[in-house]
Amino acid sequence: MTYQISERLRRLPPYPFVELDRLKSEAIARGADIINLGIGDPDLPTPKVIIDALTEAANDPANHQYPLGAGMIQFRKEVSSYYARTRQVDVDPATEVCTLIGSKEGIAHFPLAFLNPGDVALVPDPGYPVYHSATIFAGGEPYAMPLLAENGFLPDLDAIPDAVYARTKLMFLNYPNNPTAALAPAEFFEKAIAKAKKHGFAILHDAAYLDMVYHGVKPLSFLEIPGGKEVGIELHSLSKTFNMTGWRIGYAVGNKSLVQGLLNLKTNVDSGVFGAIQKAGMVALQNYESLMPGLIATYEARLKVLNDGIRSLGWRDFTLPKATFYVWIRNQSGLKSIEMVKTLIQECGIVTTPGTAFGQSGEGYFRIALTTSKERISEAITRLSNIAL
Ligand SMILES: *Cc1c(COP(=O)(O)O)cnc(C)c1O
Repeated sequence: MTYQISERLRRLPPYPFVELDRLKSEAIARGADIINLGIGDPDLPTPKVIIDALTEAANDPANHQYPLGAGMIQFRKEVSSYYARTRQVDVDPATEVCTLIGSKEGIAHFPLAFLNPGDVALVPDPGYPVYHSATIFAGGEPYAMPLLAENGFLPDLDAIPDAVYARTKLMFLNYPNNPTAALAPAEFFEKAIAKAKKHGFAILHDAAYLDMVYHGVKPLSFLEIPGGKEVGIELHSLSKTFNMTGWRIGYAVGNKSLVQGLLNLKTNVDSGVFGAIQKAGMVALQNYESLMPGLIATYEARLKVLNDGIRSLGWRDFTLPKATFYVWIRNQSGLKSIEMVKTLIQECGIVTTPGTAFGQSGEGYFRIALTTSKERISEAITRLSNIAL
């Protein structure tokens, strides 16, 4: 028997990185030396203090049983302390924090908890693809909010028709932004909050890159904005901050009814995060202030190599990111994004991500991730200088 996948699965675009992985494998099979500036997965190891905490906790039988859905109260208290220390934001660990198996899991489940069939979710375009697919899984209708360079990669909230707002239950936002690396000013968040109140929708702010910041910039947490906690939930993750993408731990923080609704849904799907990983996550958050400067310095040094290199190539259509580890570049060659990315793989052995992997408004762009060493970035620049684009 060959079984057919469901209609809801068929409505999804293919996961973009699968196609890229295939192209990459073909290049490797040809013997090419590949420089991977594609997927945003830190190449550096998790700090030792965190690994040591995991080892110790893994030996404790208390962690061998089912973890509780919302996560250990000690872990949630540590999350609350992180928000109090770094953001002067008050969150109640008992009711306003939910542990996640990575923030992707929370993003994927949130619409199932809050959308009814036919409800609209406003989705940034370009954006992390899960906002779109999670909305479809829930029977909702994604409505694309273009992020354009001329608007600082912020959606134009006044351009969305009232008839769409009337059907909107959820808005996804993500700043610092993947893939554009843009930050959002307080006025933008204030405006989004006013729209949410007026039209009665919730805001999910994906803050995966809240800590990935350069040269002393401090992006805003959504919960710092007056009214943020009334209408929203913020998802944060240890993945990017502490080089822990493989560990699968993050959390949702914010409006109690949104946190509890998500938890209600999750209780029916998963059984939480391994206790030893939560213990290690606590140690990560406790050591946030001492660990961050070293982690950030590495990316700042890479960014400088990339920036100097790209300028030397004469490319002008990009801005040096203040946050995230992405550089979002409009290619000047007139090639479609996917053609550009294929050319870079085939002619230079360089893997990047086409802008269209993040939505139609990404056409004409490609994304470089700083998840490889300075030396390899420098080598990539040399290769780029040898081809005509
Ligand atoms: C990496 C990433 C995530 C997922 O992070 P996990 O916590 O590892 O699931 C979520 N949102 C954006 C925008 C990301 O880039």
